[in-house]
Amino acid sequence: MDQEMNRLSLLSMQVEKESIATALQAKEIYNHLGEFLKDSIMLSSKKRTITIIGGGIIGLMAAYFLQKNGYGVTILERKSFGAAASGRNGGGVLALGRELREIPFARLAIEIWDALELDGIDTKFVRSGNVMVASNETEKQKLLAAHDLYQASGLTVKILSANEMKTIVPDIFPQINMGLLSETDAQSYPFTTIKSIISYLKENGVKVIDHCEVYEFKTNQQEIEYATTNKGNYQSDAYLFCAGPWTTELCNKLNEEIPVLPRRSQILVTEIMKKRKIHPFVAGNSIYLRQTHAGNILFGGGGPWETNGYDVSNTNFAIEFLTKRFIEIFPGYRNKQLIRAFAGTVELTRDHLPYFGKINSWDNAFISAGYNGHGYGMSTVMGKLMAKSLSSYFAGKVNPVETTILSNFSVARIGQKVGDQYV
Ligand SMILES: Cc1cc2nc3c(=O)[nH]c(=O)nc-3n(C[C@H](O)[C@H](O)[C@H](O)COP(=O)(O)OP(=O)(O)OC[C@H]3O[C@@H](n4cnc5c(N)ncnc54)[C@H](O)[C@@H]3O)c2cc1C
Repeated sequence: MDQEMNRLSLLSMQVEKESIATALQAKEIYNHLGEFLKDSIMLSSKKRTITIIGGGIIGLMAAYFLQKNGYGVTILERKSFGAAASGRNGGGVLALGRELREIPFARLAIEIWDALELDGIDTKFVRSGNVMVASNETEKQKLLAAHDLYQASGLTVKILSANEMKTIVPDIFPQINMGLLSETDAQSYPFTTIKSIISYLKENGVKVIDHCEVYEFKTNQQEIEYATTNKGNYQSDAYLFCAGPWTTELCNKLNEEIPVLPRRSQILVTEIMKKRKIHPFVAGNSIYLRQTHAGNILFGGGGPWETNGYDVSNTNFAIEFLTKRFIEIFPGYRNKQLIRAFAGTVELTRDHLPYFGKINSWDNAFISAGYNGHGYGMSTVMGKLMAKSLSSYFAGKVNPVETTILSNFSVARIGQKVGDQYV
């Protein structure tokens, strides 16, 4: 292995560009957001209705929190619920690795995941921890800097020596230098969760409609009047766009230019290993991985080498590349068989931050999308925040948290497209 190369995985934070001051700010934002989420939702006397477009985890979680808060919810999905990235992901519910601006959201998201089981939603959520692995000095220095920033942001992180790493991930390669652990990070089973939320939503009166594609919107000045689909027209007080990688296409129907780059990401699955040895989520050497309760190891990775677009075929290149990286850090698994591979489409934004809130000057159109490959974990907090934002909208009263903290994710930051540039 090239000793000086940086192959850290899932570290979106650029440590050299961040400061302790920003990290401390992230801690404060966590407190403000937590307080905001504790406030009860303001409900108007009239029962308000919301149509959600897109039946991935982001749309489903928003439906869950909106329904719980007394709204009439319809969710439209053009294929099957969870058939896109939401059912084809690693199931990591992670804060470690995120940009500091997202840390408060990621921390709250994990806490909310914990509570879903109380409502009977089967998520197989477990706080397994998440460990980043450094195999050379360059990576070690980055993880040490990341440790200080994350700790200041309120995330519980711990530096692990090579020996400590071998205790929690016994078969890891001997060249391991150090690890960075977040004990509060977690994992969950995407398919189980989606199936369970859909049952919950149906039992609780949400209209859950699959194979229903939104073709266009009938608008009146700055309002959507109704959405036209292959199953008829849907009319409601507000519309929430949760189309993940298809956001640009959906927003174009309102003549809004909202850039999201779709990119393939692949996961490989090993045969069952009799003894389950890897309990935390693990990221390093350009891959991430987890071991299921059954004993299979799922490992994946992506990045600029992947194809942009919606093709979800697996490629020989990815199979060879990811397997090579996997065997490098788990040499003892060299003779294990790969039994399956799958792929999905992640949704990239230009500044790696999601789009959340009102869609520009449209009075009743909202968006929650563009989670840059970590929307599964983030879905709980963003769903709960969307229920709060919609209640503010209906009540005509905006909370300062929305105008200061949440407004950073507004699509207004994109600017106007002139030629190929946004200005
Ligand atoms: C291989 C892989 C591994 C990943 N691992 C993780 C992980 O470990 N942890 C994590 O947090 N995240 C992970 N992610 C990312 C995560 O899966 C996504 O961020 C998340 O699923 C996005 O959810 P979504 O609901 O926004 O989008 P999607 O799941 O893409 O759903 C959008 C839905 O909108 C529907 N739609 C689009 N247009 C229309 C229309 N006109 N009418 C009706 N419906 C429409 C689509 O059919 C689709 O079902 C991974 C992704 C991949 C691909």
